[in-house]
Amino acid sequence: MIKILANDGIHPDGKTLLEEAGYQVDTEKVPQDKLADVLPAYDVVIVRSATQIRKDLIDKCSNLKIIARAGVGLDNVDHDHARGKGIAVFNTPAASSKAVAELAFTHMFNLARMVHQSNYQMRAAGANFKQLKKAYSKGLQVRGKTLAIVGFGRIGQEVARIGLALGMRILATDPLVDFAEIDISLYDPDNLSLKVRVDTVDWEEALAKADFLTFHVPGIGKALLGKDEFAQMKDTAIVINTARGGIIDEKALIEALDEGQIGGAGLDVFENEPTPMQALLDHPNISLSPHIGASTVEAQANIGLELADKILAFFGDDK
Ligand code: NAD
Repeated sequence: MIKILANDGIHPDGKTLLEEAGYQVDTEKVPQDKLADVLPAYDVVIVRSATQIRKDLIDKCSNLKIIARAGVGLDNVDHDHARGKGIAVFNTPAASSKAVAELAFTHMFNLARMVHQSNYQMRAAGANFKQLKKAYSKGLQVRGKTLAIVGFGRIGQEVARIGLALGMRILATDPLVDFAEIDISLYDPDNLSLKVRVDTVDWEEALAKADFLTFHVPGIGKALLGKDEFAQMKDTAIVINTARGGIIDEKALIEALDEGQIGGAGLDVFENEPTPMQALLDHPNISLSPHIGASTVEAQANIGLELADKILAFFGDDK
């Protein structure tokens, strides 16, 4: 029997699919320091971002045939080493694009109308409704604004689709993509289907013209937005990072906000997860979420099903 350890969990739909094929799926979390004792008995390990699958662990698991990452990115898996040993490595890059794109807009809308602030101010004891109404009456309209998208891959293009539908001007920038045809079909595609060609622009142009600037690039080990870049932006600009912690220099971000160089920031990812810098958490002009970009019911179900399909196909049990 094929034995699978889903160490960071798996959506019940994916689990059911695998169990119906006769596979054993264990979802009880094994602590990182105990994995070397437990994992050698398994054929497949499924992880999210928490469990680390490093070289020394891989070397102890001669029975392991698949390392499956439920999500995008393989930062927590020594994938080249695994593949070199004949172990298949899968992830689910496309399953969560819509969820991440929608979270980027959640932060944009929050910041445009200051809902991230009014939400907790209204709960505060003695909150004065009229005073708050006045304080939050200078929100920004999103329609007609310029949305700069940094990284025009799967998620970036999904963001463009929503932005176009909202009536935003799109400026996408990506060194490897010249243009993309964005399909903004309505819910019922027979009703209306529309393709819009979006040509990419230079990073400098995107930076200078952005009312909203959102990152959808892989982690590249250095910040793309720091002191020099903030200085080139509009003082009302709103920056969003749902990609990877470290893409925005966090200290420079706090300074840029305090000095009024930009208007606000929406962050789902942080340099120091799970303990982000306190100054970020305390800042009134930052809209926050705890790395939940891919965490919708629909995306997690898609991820579970996509992984299950890939695992079944690997063992020749797909229908
Ligand atoms: P993708 O590979 O489809 O697209 C990334 C694009 O970024 C590529 O087209 C690449 O050419 C471009 N790029 C690389 N370096 C760049 C640079 N310096 N400037 C501009 N563009 C650059 O990836 P994706 O599926 O769209 O995912 C994007 C990011 O979203 C990844 O970092 C991923 O880890 C992150 N993500 C976050 C969450 C979350 O929970 N918040 C969930 C899923 C994905």
